[in-house]
Amino acid sequence: MKVGVIGAGAAGLAAAYELGLHGHACDVFEAAPFLGGQASTFEVGGTPVERGYHHLFRSDTAMVQLMEELGIGDRLKWIDSNVGYFAEGRVWRFTGPFDLLRFRPLSPLDRVRLGLLTLSLQRRKEWRSLERWTAAEWLLEHAGESIYRAVFEPMLRGKFGAYYGQVSMAWLWNKFALRTASRGKGLRGRFKEQLGYPVGSFEEIFTVLAERVESLGGAVHLGAGVRRVVVEEGRAAGLEVQLGGEAETRSYDAVLATVPSYVLPRLVDGLPDDYTEMLTDKVYLSAVLIVMVLERPLSPHYWMYVGDRSMPFLGVIEHTNFMPAEHYGGGHVVYLTNYLDRDDRLYKMDAAELYAEYLPHLRRINPAFDESWVREYHHHKVDAAQPIVTRGYSERIPAHRTPIPGLYLANTTQIYPEDRGTNYSVRMGRQVARLMMEDGAG
Ligand SMILES: Cc1cc2nc3c(=O)[nH]c(=O)nc-3n(C[C@H](O)[C@H](O)[C@H](O)COP(=O)(O)OP(=O)(O)OC[C@H]3O[C@@H](n4cnc5c(N)ncnc54)[C@H](O)[C@@H]3O)c2cc1C
Repeated sequence: MKVGVIGAGAAGLAAAYELGLHGHACDVFEAAPFLGGQASTFEVGGTPVERGYHHLFRSDTAMVQLMEELGIGDRLKWIDSNVGYFAEGRVWRFTGPFDLLRFRPLSPLDRVRLGLLTLSLQRRKEWRSLERWTAAEWLLEHAGESIYRAVFEPMLRGKFGAYYGQVSMAWLWNKFALRTASRGKGLRGRFKEQLGYPVGSFEEIFTVLAERVESLGGAVHLGAGVRRVVVEEGRAAGLEVQLGGEAETRSYDAVLATVPSYVLPRLVDGLPDDYTEMLTDKVYLSAVLIVMVLERPLSPHYWMYVGDRSMPFLGVIEHTNFMPAEHYGGGHVVYLTNYLDRDDRLYKMDAAELYAEYLPHLRRINPAFDESWVREYHHHKVDAAQPIVTRGYSERIPAHRTPIPGLYLANTTQIYPEDRGTNYSVRMGRQVARLMMEDGAG
């Protein structure tokens, strides 16, 4: 088969690699001038770092295996995670189970109840029945009002904004299951979560993967936006691509799109209404980030949830409490993150406006903070970053095989019940490649 792939993020590159391994050459077309999609990088102090914070969990076995296959397994470092929670005007350490016992925003009884609830969700294997509930409904019933309002509501609001009340409990359950799987073995592992990071950043993975796709007979084109999927006699037959200022049409035996769901109907005519409806009824939030490079650390934590909604951002991720500042010319890299609707006031702000909005709040995290610490700051927006997973979601996931023969879709709305992540895009890309080969052979 000769396959055209739209998108050089984790899913598109992994699919092209899998197809290449089986002798099917792929042309990958990426609209952006860089690889990696949502996990792409920019430079701080001459070193690439992700536009939006990234790490791996111990449970991310598809990515770990891919790195091994690519010969860069030794570039993955596992580092103790270090979590804080900002509430009631101060930062609470939230790394191990004993930290919960010191979390004063909850009464002593509620701390114990929250500990037991966490344990039972971590151990739970069955999730289908949880799909019937929104997380808010389930938690109000099973955790009670005070725990829900102090801990979960601010987290859900922070991550899903106006949609926080619609998120399925199955989504939240998966977060607990994931964090358990990310704990190591033995007594130490039981209490200590470890997170993985590729030294050299995620860019290194995508660069080596793209090289491998090319060495297997494929090609990866950057700055090459696909304008249309060509359909002939009811079958996907090619792509119309903008290549170096010229529009070109290329013929393919099959096409894989890794674009967000709402983009696909714009690229292809003739999708039936029910499939189009499944694509367009999905709501995505955009990730909006201010990335500051500081002279000094802001906090001792890598990951800080912000549970106080009077703060204008939902999380503070201090990457250099994970990978040391020496990698970045001595700069301390701090992400201030939000997930927003595109009509949100904060989404519409430019870099200077958003930075000015956030700045006064940093003293609440570290009273010594001073603007003179800021060497530089950057503003990144990642659209279609977080699909909203609502009640009964599993019934509304569009199939990878679209109704147009020869046209396939692999994007983050099809990852479920797990939350989207590079690991799952790699797994899905490789799975869809196998589907395409099965169909091609048939
Ligand atoms: C702020 C943030 C933090 C995250 N943190 C983590 C983390 O810690 N760990 C983790 O594993 N994951 C994390 N993720 C999620 C992870 O980055 C994504 O799930 C994953 O990268 C998605 O890969 P993908 O290939 O499915 O999609 P994408 O990366 O979105 O790739 C799709 C590609 O298609 C291209 N495209 C779209 N339209 C066209 C067109 N017409 N023609 C050509 N190309 C087109 C896009 O430019 C894009 O490059 C995070 C995401 C964000 C936004």
